[in-house]
Parts: sequence; structure tokens; C-alpha cells
Amino acid sequence: MKIITTISDMRTYRQEHKHGSIGFVPTMGYLHEGHMSMVESSTKENDRTVVSIFVNPLQFGPDEDYDNYPCDFERDRKIAESYGADAIFYPSTEEMYPGKRTISLNVIDRTDVLCGPSRPGHFDGVATVIVKLLQIIQPTRMYLGQKDAQQVAVLEGLVADFNIPVELIPCPTIREEDGLAKSSRNVNLTAQERKEAPFLHKSLKLAEEMVGEGERDPEVIKQAITAMLKENTSGTIDYREVLSYPYLKPATSNDEMWICAVAVYFRHARLIDNSILTITQKGES
Ligand code: AMP
Repeated sequence: MKIITTISDMRTYRQEHKHGSIGFVPTMGYLHEGHMSMVESSTKENDRTVVSIFVNPLQFGPDEDYDNYPCDFERDRKIAESYGADAIFYPSTEEMYPGKRTISLNVIDRTDVLCGPSRPGHFDGVATVIVKLLQIIQPTRMYLGQKDAQQVAVLEGLVADFNIPVELIPCPTIREEDGLAKSSRNVNLTAQERKEAPFLHKSLKLAEEMVGEGERDPEVIKQAITAMLKENTSGTIDYREVLSYPYLKPATSNDEMWICAVAVYFRHARLIDNSILTITQKGES
């Protein structure tokens, strides 16, 4: 497996493999099975798989966890290699952002909800780094986790608006045995918070059951999620939302799909999770 740290070496690698397909898995490192399930899909569907590891400063707000985002490149290298990645693109911040920027991207749709209001500028930073990574790596397919469903929705908009020739492949959320969505940030939970954190998923399962039993009032579902999170976690709820999917508009009973999503601040980690539900209409079974 190749470790590539410069843009020019990454371009050379792409040139060397110009006739084959490249699957690309963008990450911020501290790899876990969520990332690796995407690497596995990519290795099955492409001639080569490139994983990027880059903690992108542009997508962190001033009070966020950029400085204590976990990282261990040696550990990541071994994991990525064992899952069959062909190359890791591991640029420095200076390599990616060498000087004063002259253009800024502003995501204007699907950011007024969920993580948008509490993370101003976050999706602008994500869009910027993804445009750069796609230009540098020129992959055939890009693998994205549904755990960050709003990110998938925003990046679908980006690829469509800018006619970027890449296929987006959304991948299912991989969980711990107790239901907690795998996340690099889970290591920043205290032992007590780690016990509480599965209640994010449990509250979404409850929402799913309510919808399955015919509940169609988003407010009632949100109240149930709130009650479960307040009763069982010491964290502060950032949001719990029920919206149409993929448009992220207020949910109505006419929608085909809903997303139920939660974000909770623990002391040193903000965790998010979601569940995407098919809404059966009256008369459908
Ligand atoms: P991150 O390193 O957290 O920026 O995530 C990189 C990619 O991995 C994103 O597409 C995430 O949505 C995806 N991802 C993170 N956690 C999971 C998970 N538990 N299951 C599936 N995909 C995930």
C-alpha cells in the first residue's frame, strides 16, 4: 500500500492507473469499522481504492474539537492495509491550504437544519475539501457514510451543481454491539458517557417503532426522542429532528421518506446519529 503525501504524487498515481476505476473513501482518520466497511465495498467495486486521511480545519468551528481530534497514523496505516486499500492520501494542512484562499464555497441548500445551525460554516468547509480531493484524486466512485446523512445530501447537491464526474455511493451506518454508531469521536467519551451514548440509537429505534405503528405527527415523535435522551443521558441535546428525506424539509405524512436525526453534546464529544424511514401511505401495506 502506498502512502502519498503530496498532490503531485497523487496525480502521478492517478496517471499510472488512468485506465482503471478508483474508489475513494474520504476520512479524517482514526479509522474504525465504519470507514473500513466502505473500503471493503470500494475494493469489490473498483480496480484501486484510495483512502484519504485529512483532518480538515475548514470544517471545524473555533470552539470545536479540531485540536483534540484523535489521530494515530501508524494505527490507521495498518488498518487500511489489512482491509485492502491500495493507497492512503495523507497530505499536510500546508499541502492542502498553502496560501491565502481566493474563493469560498457557500452551501445554500439543506444547511438550515440539523448540523447546519450549530456548526456554521461546517458544510462550506466540507464542500471545499471534497472539491479539492475530487480534483486531486479523480476517483470513479466516492463512498460516503449514511451516518452523516446531511453530508451525503449536501455532497449530492455539490456533485450535481458542479457537474463533477463521480458516482456517490452512500453506505450504511456501522454500529457497536450496543447500537452506538461507530465514530472516531467515541474515544473522547467518559466511561459513564459511553454507557449513555447508545441511547441516541435507542431513541431513533423508538421513533422508528412509533412510525411503524402509524404515528405521523413529527412533534409527538420528537417529544418521545427528547424524553428518552433526557432520561438516559447526561448530555445536552443539540437537536432531535424529523424531516423529509432527502430534501430535509418539515416532515409531512405525504413524504415518501423521513429522516429522524439526533445530536447530543457530551463533555468532549458531540455525537450524531440518524435513521431513514420509508413512510407508508394510507392504503399501502
Ligand atoms: P469521518 O472520518 O468521521 O469524517 O468520516 C469519514 C466517512 O466515514 C464519512 O463518509 C462518514 O459518514 C463515514 N462514517 C463515519 N462513521 C461511520 C459509521 N459508523 N458507519 C458508516 N460510515 C461512517
